[in-house]
Amino acid sequence: MNYDFLSPTQIVFGWGRRSELGKLAAKLGSRVFLVSGSRTLERIGVIEQIAAGFDQCGLKTERFQAASREPEVADVDSLVGEFLKREPTARDVVVAIGGGSTIDLAKAAAAIVTNRQGSSVVDFLEGVGRGLQITQAPLGMIAVPTTSGTGTEVTKNAVISSYEPAFKKSLRSDLMIPRIVLIDPELTVSLPRETTAYTGMDAITQLIESYISRRAAPIPQALALSGLELAIPALPIVVRDGSSRKNREAMSQAALLSGLALANSGLGLAHGVAAALGSHCRVPHGLACAVMLPVALRINLAVRERELAELERLFDDSYSSVGECAAAFVSRIESLCHAIGIPSQLRDVGVAVEQLPALVTGSRGNSMSGNPRDVSDRELLAELQQMWSPP
Ligand SMILES: [Zn+2]
Repeated sequence: MNYDFLSPTQIVFGWGRRSELGKLAAKLGSRVFLVSGSRTLERIGVIEQIAAGFDQCGLKTERFQAASREPEVADVDSLVGEFLKREPTARDVVVAIGGGSTIDLAKAAAAIVTNRQGSSVVDFLEGVGRGLQITQAPLGMIAVPTTSGTGTEVTKNAVISSYEPAFKKSLRSDLMIPRIVLIDPELTVSLPRETTAYTGMDAITQLIESYISRRAAPIPQALALSGLELAIPALPIVVRDGSSRKNREAMSQAALLSGLALANSGLGLAHGVAAALGSHCRVPHGLACAVMLPVALRINLAVRERELAELERLFDDSYSSVGECAAAFVSRIESLCHAIGIPSQLRDVGVAVEQLPALVTGSRGNSMSGNPRDVSDRELLAELQQMWSPP
């Protein structure tokens, strides 16, 4: 056995613990670049309270607003420009409060601002850039997620989109893992129903794909089991009743575990195709993962029966055959998607039939390389055609 496991230096988890942000930021620096992405938390005064907390700890605060979309090349370059105007030093700490998009944007800007050998973040992106590497430590960073989904608060990459040309690629470096992560599940209570459903399915997809990935490893697998046991029962409840503290906590914990798992193993076909659905058809990441998950599980069922049966046994151990038990897990996921209103057809998420070949090409990234078995372009196209218009 042979593996590495990377994670943030400190994880601070608990209801209401955002009140500790000032003290935590003061450990890392003397000036805060506060990047916030939640209009709701701005409106109800939560961001203001957090900024006041920095003030009380003697920190100067510069505020930046993240656009409410998955970060694009120009968004990163523009935030880097804003940071540079403030003449950043190693005493500056970036605090990112928002969903995965805001945290990815801030992670990318914090890294590019100290690595000035390119003219744009695109020079550093996997597969599309000039192959430049992050060699200097980014600005210190505290990530504060306000959704329970992407897990990007604990990963070493930031996903950056472009629409012309269309791609969704990662900026990646071990140096990019945020130093401190603060997870306050109370921040997720105001999330709309749809965002709760989509981001929750992203976490579930990450937990399952890392568990069955061809790069699966022991620590991520242990985390994935624990995360799925929490998330699968909790998600339909928080979609119905967003104020349930117990279930919001379960989803926040599951999302954190999904990030730690994916950062230290691989993903698979659902995430591979989700990247293409994002860059070609602008389907939100969590929804794209959710739509693809049942199909990805069916495609991998034959080569991961034992693992999928292990997941089903978290909930029901009455099956006598491994095959039946694994198939029951796939049905469980299909029912979950149905119960929280996830469509099963690609045309229902805005995909045009002419786009299917481009989706196949666009899905061949880092995530797809973790899929348990090889899926040819022809097979994938046939699956997507079937999903676009079932018989
Ligand atoms: Zn994801």
